Amino acid sequence: MALIVQKFGGTSVGDPERMRAVADHVARTVRRGNQVVVVISAMGKETDDLLRMATEVARVRPGREMDMLITAGERKATALLGMALHDRSVPAASFTGSQAGFITDTTHTNAKIVEVRPTRLRQALEAGQVPVVGGAQGVSTDGDVTFLGRGGSDTTAVAIAHALEADICELYTDVTGVFTTDPRVVADARRIDRISFDELLEMTANGCPKPAMRSVEYARTHGVDLHVRSAFTWEQGTLVTKEDSDMEQAIISAVTHDTEEAKITITGVEDRPGVAGKLFRALAEQQVNVDVIVQNTSAAGHTDISFTVPKEDAVRAGEVTSGLTDEMGASGAVVDDGIARVSVIGAGMKTHPGVAATVFETLAANEINIEMISTSAIRISCVVREAQIEHAVQCLHAAFRLDEGPAYVD
Ligand code: ASP
Ligand code: MG
Repeated sequence: MALIVQKFGGTSVGDPERMRAVADHVARTVRRGNQVVVVISAMGKETDDLLRMATEVARVRPGREMDMLITAGERKATALLGMALHDRSVPAASFTGSQAGFITDTTHTNAKIVEVRPTRLRQALEAGQVPVVGGAQGVSTDGDVTFLGRGGSDTTAVAIAHALEADICELYTDVTGVFTTDPRVVADARRIDRISFDELLEMTANGCPKPAMRSVEYARTHGVDLHVRSAFTWEQGTLVTKEDSDMEQAIISAVTHDTEEAKITITGVEDRPGVAGKLFRALAEQQVNVDVIVQNTSAAGHTDISFTVPKEDAVRAGEVTSGLTDEMGASGAVVDDGIARVSVIGAGMKTHPGVAATVFETLAANEINIEMISTSAIRISCVVREAQIEHAVQCLHAAFRLDEGPAYVD
């Protein structure tokens, strides 16, 4: 008998028929002799609908009220799935995040988990029930309802799996697993059978939308094995585990892309100590999250600094940067939101030379100019024109033959 956490995303429970299909699957899992804890998202696009409704009702939307509103979506879904399980003679009990023991900080709309005390979930399991928990929610140390942010249900599921020492955390979604690249961009993208936490974390940090990055971080920190799979076909999906030394290392596991960033360039900056510190301190004080940073070697005592920021922060970052041009002795600042970033990710590149060369040659052969480069131990990213991003993804996916399955380090 295994203890399994099963998380269902919004499209998986999007309408009554889907809700019944999910209940059938949970019932099957229980009848096979497993203990199951369910974590559920709001049905379909309900979270978006609630957010929109709030903007239609009020201009001032206090975080406390927003969280009470948004978490109602998940709460509704828990009760409905609970009923559907009873209908199948599976004893079940619905729980809000607070009842499930999620204590968070007081940051409304994006709360952080402080502690999970799953006493009531344990009691329910001991009583032979399936607990059905509302995802992405908790209660703050001040006693208010909190929302863990978009995609927070994945984190709820991983946190429960860790707290209850579950055997596996299954994340059910509308695709059959994690793919070598976005199947909408490359038709012959393949499902990855198994991937390490580190690689999946790099993928989610560089444009792969699911699972939520925070949940992958949590899983990596606590060693919670994940199984990303489909709630439509129920087939085997992608296992996400710790990289073990016996595991073959794919040279490249995936190609991701991110179109949500803008590039800011400040030109003709005086080349002296303290200039970069001043700029990035000012950006940090405005809560701007800076990513790729490039500084050229200076020609005649002057240099250019470019960096990327999330598109939503671009205007603010541009203002901060422009405001500092005089002080930095710079000639100007430019915001460019026509960029995108392509990344190749694979644990095998740590020991396999030539990956960077292949990336750059491939882009060059396809007339794609590289504007910025950044790397980690298992990732190479290039900033290119946004209009060329799909082409960049396609040619890199082909260059590393990802459609034929991964090549491994010998
Ligand atoms: N329903 C919320 C959202 O769409 C939380 C979640 O499902 O993870 O972001
Ligand atoms: Mg979701």
